[in-house]
Amino acid sequence: MATYPIRLFGDPVLKQRSREVEELDGSLARLVDAMFDTMVEAHGLGLAAPQVGVQRRLFTYDVGEGPRVVVNPVVVEATGEWSFEEGCLSLPGLHFEVVRPKVVTLRGLDLDGREVVVEADELEARVFLHELDHLDGVLLLDRLDRDARKQALRELREQDLLAGARREGAAL
Ligand code: ZN
Repeated sequence: MATYPIRLFGDPVLKQRSREVEELDGSLARLVDAMFDTMVEAHGLGLAAPQVGVQRRLFTYDVGEGPRVVVNPVVVEATGEWSFEEGCLSLPGLHFEVVRPKVVTLRGLDLDGREVVVEADELEARVFLHELDHLDGVLLLDRLDRDARKQALRELREQDLLAGARREGAAL
């Protein structure tokens, strides 16, 4: 089992916009396998490539139906509102109530280059939107209002993130 260390808040790679995947080749398939293993080991529901230091537009997820990958994902439709306490593998131990669209239609490619279209709601939609943010260099903290963000930064400083302490629980 090959796994990557998960990049944590403060790592500049998490603030960069990732580029489109151009080649669906063996090295991409190996990356995805290692991302699946990393996601399982970390008890994550989703994992975006930049979280393992790869600035490419793809993410893996598993909302109970087995691991899946979407390459070059785009949201083609988003409707409604849904509030959920969201976590992030790059912000261990922190959860925040965030409102985002309730239903999204996502379009992208699978590893064979076939188009995939997924209509998702609630938790699955939330995972998609959270991982897409990672591909644009946006973190959960950027979705908070000013006071909540300040409080979160204080908590992050108090944690010794460099020690790599990870807590279990639902994180995306
Ligand atoms: Zn995350």
